[in-house]
Amino acid sequence: MNFAIIGATGNVGRKTIEVLEKSKLKIDNLSLVASEKSVGQKLRFKNKDIKVEQLEKYDFSKADITIFAAGSEIAEKWIPRASKKTIVIDNSKHFRMDNEVPLIVAEVNPEDLTNHKNIIANPNCSTIQLMLPLKPLHDKYKIKRVIVSTYQAVSGAGKASVDELFSQTKNYLNKKDIKSENFTKQIAFNLIPHIDSFVEDGYTKEEWKMENETKKILDKNIGLTATCVRVPVKTSHSESVNVEFENEYNLDTAKEILRSAPGCKVVDEHKDGGYITPLEAEEDYLTFISRIRKDHSNKKALNMWVVSDNLLKGAALNTVQIAELLLRKK
Ligand code: NAP
Repeated sequence: MNFAIIGATGNVGRKTIEVLEKSKLKIDNLSLVASEKSVGQKLRFKNKDIKVEQLEKYDFSKADITIFAAGSEIAEKWIPRASKKTIVIDNSKHFRMDNEVPLIVAEVNPEDLTNHKNIIANPNCSTIQLMLPLKPLHDKYKIKRVIVSTYQAVSGAGKASVDELFSQTKNYLNKKDIKSENFTKQIAFNLIPHIDSFVEDGYTKEEWKMENETKKILDKNIGLTATCVRVPVKTSHSESVNVEFENEYNLDTAKEILRSAPGCKVVDEHKDGGYITPLEAEEDYLTFISRIRKDHSNKKALNMWVVSDNLLKGAALNTVQIAELLLRKK
């Protein structure tokens, strides 16, 4: 099989190279593609240096599966023509709500892959990690409503945003001027309740994505309301989640369900440090669930804390799992 990554030099692109290297996929040739400024740069894959090619000059028929990790504008412009020559798995938001495009979390709705038309969308990072614990809970106790607050790492906004957190932190400690170019306000020693652009009713697009992608992936009848916040953490998104079921539930059974949820690990000891933080989830393929407890204000609801590496399960890992599902199907 031949693979390609468009946006190979970015945060998600580089992680995708790592995940492909660790996967069991048999890859004969990997093409790495980015913008003109990266042409000639070499990236390592399986002990070989691969030269980055320029998107405008790249031939999409070189790969059977092409993973796009270059943002919405590139997706909009290039995926319609690429998908005539290769199967595309796209990380951007551009095609996610298109009825013709399956939106897949590998452990949650692999059956939706049937009838794809050469374009498959990877959900938003904060949606993916939430789907993993919600799916088995929904199968057992129908979910009525979810209230989620996110604490999202800067790497979710691309490599330039990680550099901005580092330089602002350094400048703050050295009492130098702080410039905000990738974020609307200072992110170092701060947090920002705004991710992606504003949409109607005062919500942001990130919040809108969580609401609507959940309906597409899990169940159109689930109500979800989100507040998405950028925090000065490098990697891993955390989520405080309140889940309300249609009926009363049993907490021990719910914990048992979460313990066997595919792709998840429960770390939930009611003592100092008996929970997972973003630093500990970094570089891990699993999504961690901690602080599982009853909502004392609602007998039908529970609270939990969900943490996952946004560049792995939130992006690179899920796209590679989708590729594995496609090949298994074939
Ligand atoms: P990033 O670090 O900014 O990387 C962007 C990549 O796109 C780079 O390889 C860049 O190449 C390439 N690119 C930009 N403009 C280009 C052009 N005109 N022609 C060709 N290549 C171009 O961004 P990222 O965080 O990896 O995100 C990539 C995509 O994944 C976005 O759609 C993002 O929303 C999505 N996503 C990200 C996450 C996450 O947690 N980061 C999670 C889920 C989904 P150069 O280096 O040559 O500029």
